[in-house]
Amino acid sequence: MKCKVCKEPAVVCLPSHNAAFCPGCYEKFYMKQVREGIRKRKLLNRDDKVLVALSGGKDSLSLMYALAELDYDVTGLHIDLGIPNSSEKARAVIEDFCSSRGFKLTVVEMEKEGMPMPLVKKHIRRPICSVCGKVKRHYFNRVALEQGFTALATGHNLDDEVARLFANTLRWDQAYLSDQGPVLPAENGFAKKVKPLYRLSEYENANFAFLQGIPYHHLPCPYSGGASFTAHKMLWRDLEFKSPGTKRSFYEGFLDRGAPAFASFHERKAEEVIACTDCGCPTSAGVCGVCRIKVQLDRALKDEGA
Ligand code: SF4
Ligand code: ZN
Repeated sequence: MKCKVCKEPAVVCLPSHNAAFCPGCYEKFYMKQVREGIRKRKLLNRDDKVLVALSGGKDSLSLMYALAELDYDVTGLHIDLGIPNSSEKARAVIEDFCSSRGFKLTVVEMEKEGMPMPLVKKHIRRPICSVCGKVKRHYFNRVALEQGFTALATGHNLDDEVARLFANTLRWDQAYLSDQGPVLPAENGFAKKVKPLYRLSEYENANFAFLQGIPYHHLPCPYSGGASFTAHKMLWRDLEFKSPGTKRSFYEGFLDRGAPAFASFHERKAEEVIACTDCGCPTSAGVCGVCRIKVQLDRALKDEGA
């Protein structure tokens, strides 16, 4: 197969774009998707100070690389969850990636914050991934606001976005549908959130990381239970195989024609937000969810030691 652009041998075939690319033309294609995605949905301004959430996976590292290539002012943020045989490996990959390319990096250690995930898993009777997700989102927002960043960028890709949109649509969850999209403006104590990879699939990001020689952390989290590929993602994989481009048109179609119908539900939700009495972060109750988890954990540890 030949590259659609220069006719050299192709290494990446993309049926959804009816195209195949050689390594050099694939890099140009990928960077154009990121650049055009940012421009089309007005994700970032040239003077934005961007904090990039880095998990160590292919998506977040490719995102950091691409935004730096596009000359945005980027700083990485990694939350070290303190999970044995996992967190130290992810952190090492990120630290190597950032130091070898001269990228700024901030690391927040859950051990030092008094909430390492193994202790949370042991003492908090809730699904660990829901608590972990909450904690990560809390610190992403907190670091962004405390350190004066104007945007928080995450590596969510097209597959993540489609799976989430599909789940929200199956439930007709108006509040969640009102928040769905590649940009959420800064408001009510929340930093602006952007997802510049929303036009690129998991496969496209993996190819980019591989061809750019970006080593990434690919081992699943020991707490994930191996369920990294959800039933919805499998359904969409089949749909996309039978009809290439369906994922993209479903998602972009929602942004263009579906999202405006849910905008009023976002406004209603935003009115309910107040500042946490302990940490000042936005919450709908007096004390935010993460401060409540901290209190529960401290209590459980005291009881254990008593
Ligand atoms: Fe956290 Fe691991 Fe669950 Fe991901 S899989 S949310 S890192 S506990
Ligand atoms: Zn709080």
